[in-house]
Amino acid sequence: MKRTFTEAELGRIASLSAIGDFRERARALANDANSACEGETCNVRVVFGLRTLEEQMALWQKGRALKPGRPPKHKSSWSIVSSVVTRAFPGESAHNYGLAIDLALLGDESKAWLPGHDPRWRTVLGERARAAGLTWGGDFKSFFDGAHVELLGWESRR
Ligand SMILES: [Zn+2]
Repeated sequence: MKRTFTEAELGRIASLSAIGDFRERARALANDANSACEGETCNVRVVFGLRTLEEQMALWQKGRALKPGRPPKHKSSWSIVSSVVTRAFPGESAHNYGLAIDLALLGDESKAWLPGHDPRWRTVLGERARAAGLTWGGDFKSFFDGAHVELLGWESRR
């Protein structure tokens, strides 16, 4: 069902970059997806906006270990030791430039993220993101990132 975003969630939207009008487009998308949850047994949560390089490094380190004697600021210094949560080294994510937002879809009752195969990722969020001319992480070839929406071509616009 539709819900009211918290101050923290609104702050994540406010943290986004104005480049490419991304902040306003992401705000509209969040509101539209939230409205689309009326009548659906799911709800939208704004879980990430701008992510600092320090925060990106903390995420990067989950599931990885630094090779002995290697400098942590080089991507190749790290090896995967368990399941990882990001493939982006600090500076490689659109979030690091405020050019991505993560809009999670949670079940109304379970309060857990919907599984990746749930069609509502596409119907509630993905199709709206595409219609707004944004890149949806559910369309990534390498892995499904259903909550992730970023500015098209952000690498050349950051
Ligand atoms: Zn993301």
